[in-house]
Amino acid sequence: MNDLLERLRTGLPAEALISDPDIMASYAKDSAGFCDAGAPAAVVLPRTTEQVQHVMRTATALRVPVVPQGARTGLSGGANAVEGCIVLSLTKMDRILEISTVDRIAVVEPGVVNAVLSRAAADQGLYYPPDPSSWETCTIGGNIGTAAGGLCCVKYGVTAEYVLGLEVVLADGRLLTTGRRTAKGVAGYDLTRLFVGSEGSLGVVVKAVLALKPAPPRQLALAAEFSSAAAACDAICRIMERGHTPSLLELMDRTTIRAVNAMAQMGLPETTEALLLAAFDTPDPAADLAAVGELCAAAGATEIVPADDEAESELLLQARRLSLTALETVKSATMIDDVCVPRSKLGAMIEGTAVIAEKHDLTIGVCAHAGDGNTHPVVCFDHDDPDESRRARESFDEIMALGLELGGTITGEHGVGVLKKEWLGRELGPVGVEMQRGVKQAFDPLGLLNPGKLF
Ligand SMILES: Cc1cc2nc3c(=O)[nH]c(=O)nc-3n(C[C@H](O)[C@H](O)[C@H](O)COP(=O)(O)OP(=O)(O)OC[C@H]3O[C@@H](n4cnc5c(N)ncnc54)[C@H](O)[C@@H]3O)c2cc1C
Repeated sequence: MNDLLERLRTGLPAEALISDPDIMASYAKDSAGFCDAGAPAAVVLPRTTEQVQHVMRTATALRVPVVPQGARTGLSGGANAVEGCIVLSLTKMDRILEISTVDRIAVVEPGVVNAVLSRAAADQGLYYPPDPSSWETCTIGGNIGTAAGGLCCVKYGVTAEYVLGLEVVLADGRLLTTGRRTAKGVAGYDLTRLFVGSEGSLGVVVKAVLALKPAPPRQLALAAEFSSAAAACDAICRIMERGHTPSLLELMDRTTIRAVNAMAQMGLPETTEALLLAAFDTPDPAADLAAVGELCAAAGATEIVPADDEAESELLLQARRLSLTALETVKSATMIDDVCVPRSKLGAMIEGTAVIAEKHDLTIGVCAHAGDGNTHPVVCFDHDDPDESRRARESFDEIMALGLELGGTITGEHGVGVLKKEWLGRELGPVGVEMQRGVKQAFDPLGLLNPGKLF
């Protein structure tokens, strides 16, 4: 241990190395519940690529595991420390190095907070679309680690679509440059894409070239109330079938609505079973919303309330962004699922989730990036009740099984981490797992980068 700290010290400024056990403990876990975490041997907060390389060379020399970390808002335990590891927190590498309005790119360090980049791009008339609900705190490095999605992904796609190139420090300390800053390029295998969603298991991202879009017009939203989730899902199918491209299409069930009202007094309608939020950032959003409103009415919407202006639209978005946090207050504990199914199966997924909740006598609130088919069933339970805790875990697993049955995936955007690693093999199959292990072996032959995650 002393040897590790001594060696780390030789290439780091004093303030970059933390060895105080109490402070280190605060870096042990991300925002996921029920995921094991060990105690770190050191926490390092580098400010330069050279410092990251020094950490990786030291780790390789001493065979010490390394856990890359962003803001620890992850919901799968992917950023949790493992026993005796170096936690490598990239939060101090937080500079926006360049925004080019001609190339329409941003070059950033990994610790840049998502909302900070979004605002900096907006100042230049540009737009960085991936917008996880945690955007005010989560980092671009973490977004790349998890291939994060968000509210506007139904129109603009997820993080993977915006990462053009990377600089990555490999397990042995070498610096790898992948990808490009050009509008296109096909030179060799797409290693950039491989790193997106790799959960810190293949290398440490120290720089990213991100694509930007021209800023769209401000979006206008509506809220449609339904007496059943099935009717709301029917509306979603109609909207998609008719070729509409909303910039937001989100769903909140009654449990979620009540939790959000209780937390933030948003005045959402509590008697409705499902609330569908739709928005357009087109040249004539009012006309698009009117067309979507008609489709909602045809699907049985009981009430359709268009927002009066941008400010009211933003309030609706805020209500949706609060959903996960609000659902966490329903009982003493929650397990947050993240199953994504083909849009056409969304109704079956939500109905099936209700059946699972009833079978286990549990409250499961559902909010969803509905236009993507990405549901977040949140299992709410009493942590001190062993039987209820057991039923919660069972229902969490049954929800994933249902998602796979419906042709979906066990994780749309939160990642596998520790939480779902038993399930990865069920989705990928033995050949898929073998090939993925081969990739891991090629990049990290000593298995030092974020061990115990994914597999
Ligand atoms: C209230 C709330 C709402 C959320 N809403 C959404 C949502 O709408 N959409 C969504 O996708 N997610 C959402 N999340 C989950 C979470 O915010 C995202 O997964 C986010 O991308 C994590 O970023 P982070 O900076 O916190 O990374 P962390 O949690 O610290 O790390 C996430 C993963 O990335 C790896 N990593 C971090 N930095 C690097 C790096 N520089 N190099 C290599 N690997 C790295 C870590 O090892 C870990 O595996 C939400 C979370 C909360 C708490």
